[in-house]
Amino acid sequence: MTEQQALWSVNETTSIKTYTLINFRKIPQIQQMSEEAQFEMEVVGNVLPFKTNNYVVEQLIDWDNIPNDPMYVLTFPQKGMLIPEHYDKMASTLRSGADKKEIARVANDIRLQLNPHPAGQMELNVPQLKDGTKLYGMQHKYDETCLFFPSQSQTCHAYCTFCFRWPQFVGMDEMKFAMREGEQLVQYLKEHPEITDVLFTGGDPMIMKASMFSAYTDTLLDAKLPNLKTIRIGTKAISYWPYKFLTDSDADETLKNFEKIVKSGTHLAIMAHFNHLVELSTDPIKEAIKRVRKTGAQIRTQSPLLAHINDDANMWAKMWQKQVSLGCIPYYMFVVRDTGAQHYFGVPLVKAEKIFRSAFRQVSGLARTVRGPSMSATPGKVHVLGVSEINGQKVIVLQLLQGRESEWVGIPFFAKYDENAIWLDDLEPAFGEKFFFDDEFKAKYKH
Ligand SMILES: *Cc1c(COP(=O)(O)O)cnc(C)c1O
Ligand code: SF4
Repeated sequence: MTEQQALWSVNETTSIKTYTLINFRKIPQIQQMSEEAQFEMEVVGNVLPFKTNNYVVEQLIDWDNIPNDPMYVLTFPQKGMLIPEHYDKMASTLRSGADKKEIARVANDIRLQLNPHPAGQMELNVPQLKDGTKLYGMQHKYDETCLFFPSQSQTCHAYCTFCFRWPQFVGMDEMKFAMREGEQLVQYLKEHPEITDVLFTGGDPMIMKASMFSAYTDTLLDAKLPNLKTIRIGTKAISYWPYKFLTDSDADETLKNFEKIVKSGTHLAIMAHFNHLVELSTDPIKEAIKRVRKTGAQIRTQSPLLAHINDDANMWAKMWQKQVSLGCIPYYMFVVRDTGAQHYFGVPLVKAEKIFRSAFRQVSGLARTVRGPSMSATPGKVHVLGVSEINGQKVIVLQLLQGRESEWVGIPFFAKYDENAIWLDDLEPAFGEKFFFDDEFKAKYKH
């Protein structure tokens, strides 16, 4: 075993060292890079969020494979993530020696042009209590599942360069999507018996100390809500910081709380983000998966399909197989959202579906629990089923996996074949003027 591997063994106590714009130039591997390459990161990192850590840098990134290494592109800003116009604007601002305030002004100006609030998130999904209290720390888009954003989970162990939650991390939405009060969540669940699932999200809820997180789940469990069947946790901690479940001071407490949730009869679903096979390869990650599963929690996995990171069918097939062999359940393949660096990561829908199908065919039925590619668009989760031909016309076949109206779900519909379309907005109905849900959608949700 090399010294490096020993340092990252499963049982050694290890503490997280975070890297951001302020100190990334101290990373030895970064110091090997040209000043120009470092400057490029600084330019992009001043607009989009940037944060990584010692585990990602030392264990997940293959520094012999720079600049193409998927884990490197996943956490380090790349020049192409800004369009040339935006890149040049920030580059010249930095070169001119502008002060912090001016840099922030230019950054915000660019950010506002990156569709910071896709899919009507700010206006359409904010729920309200019967007494009129607006719950900005929640989203309730689909009947059975509501999203809860605890105020203390507005960050992550590292940031993904593709993340659609990026406005929260750069201070644009500070605290807007965040809630302190578990009681309000309970009240909302009482008022909405159709909700069966609460999804803790953020940021990453596993960034919270165990005692803080369990305060929320205790409040939920103590309320003994008959409708609450599942607590979900959306997290990338297993990959970015597996020590959360191994040697962190609150690791055991975290796992005990998971056990407590399971013992209460509530299903605990860990919605784990794994973007690449590499993230399932290290001992600490495998051990973290084992320990989480031992609590009785189920791990379901999801990731967007990302150019420059994972647009490779064989990799997906291997990743899903690996997940199954580690006891995880492949769940969703998403399409990158229409925000931030979509121009960099986006994969056209037709190509995405080809990649999905080619990977899906290679795996056994146990891994075919996965669904996708799926776009979280304003009307709902739109599943690209494939390309077909009807009466000589080439079409893209779609259905909604989730809809703002549950009646929309599961009905196949057709868009004109378009190889370049990367989002629902780019698609045109194949027959007639509109998609079947358009009228109701406009009437109810467009103001
Ligand atoms: C995906 C998603 C959910 C959960 O949907 P499932 O298909 O039940 O996993 C809930 N709310 C929003 C806003 C979502 O995007
Ligand atoms: S871990 Fe999740 S919330 Fe955090 S940056 Fe990555 S995708 Fe976004």
